[in-house]
Amino acid sequence: MLKGQKALVTGANSGIGKATAIALGRAGADVVVNYVAGREDAEKVAEEITSFGGRAAVYEADVSDEDQVVAMLDRMIQDFGTIDILVANAGLQRDAPFTEMTLAQWQKVLDVNLTGQFLCAREATKEFLRRGVVPEVSSAAGKIVCMSSVHQLIPWAGHANYATSKGGLQMMMETLAQELAPQKIRVNAVAPGAIKTPINRSAWETPEARADLLRLIPYRRIGDPEDIANAVVGLSSDLMDYVVGTTLYVDGGMTLFPGFATGG
Ligand code: NAD
Repeated sequence: MLKGQKALVTGANSGIGKATAIALGRAGADVVVNYVAGREDAEKVAEEITSFGGRAAVYEADVSDEDQVVAMLDRMIQDFGTIDILVANAGLQRDAPFTEMTLAQWQKVLDVNLTGQFLCAREATKEFLRRGVVPEVSSAAGKIVCMSSVHQLIPWAGHANYATSKGGLQMMMETLAQELAPQKIRVNAVAPGAIKTPINRSAWETPEARADLLRLIPYRRIGDPEDIANAVVGLSSDLMDYVVGTTLYVDGGMTLFPGFATGG
């Protein structure tokens, strides 16, 4: 489905990024596995991708550092020739009640979750514009998938920094989609609900936490990283060539106001 395409996945040595890098590789793409810490895990992901016959490489870069992002894209273009798909996935949480939230916690989350996606999208877009459409490869000059969250829509007490970063991301994604569509660049987002990864271990680890969480999910199952990875592969492929500026919620119905199933 993605044969001949070159993809970069940020934060690809864990959770959703890892599953996405592997799924893109399985779909035929060559993949750059970005990580900021944990090279061994990144190498394991790359090995799995090469086992499908594709090319993979691991690049260390902090997505919130402009020089490192510029260098990462330069290196990818040198090593792989170009970039066709950017999955801006890297993200983190630094939770605190509002009055206890430090400026450092606020800033770190915005730097990685929002500015990191801005920097990666900007550098990838420069290459998409330089190269233009190559019809044998894809109908689009490039595809960007922003990893957002249901918290671009659902306010989240105790996570003001995180919810703000994802809310901002929605407007960034939609603005880029509007600005770049005439150049045949498709920008979209995937908004996961509750997915079993290290970022939210406390929400699914104990039976009590699990039961609480399942009450928020009409489909009554916690998501797997592969649920998100499959959505990213779909959005990146030409099967979805007319999908521009959309957020695909992959959340088992979490955004359907489950409290109103019996109340209201
Ligand atoms: P995770 O902690 O398993 O993975 C996050 C990845 O981002 C890790 O590889 C981490 O090293 C990387 N990262 C962090 N800071 C980085 C930086 N400065 N530069 C490069 N990489 C960096 O968590 P995950 O659940 O897989 O999260 C992936 C994305 O999905 C995040 O954007 C997160 O907000 C989003 N998301 C997750 C869930 C969920 O339920 N797990 C729900 C909604 C959205």
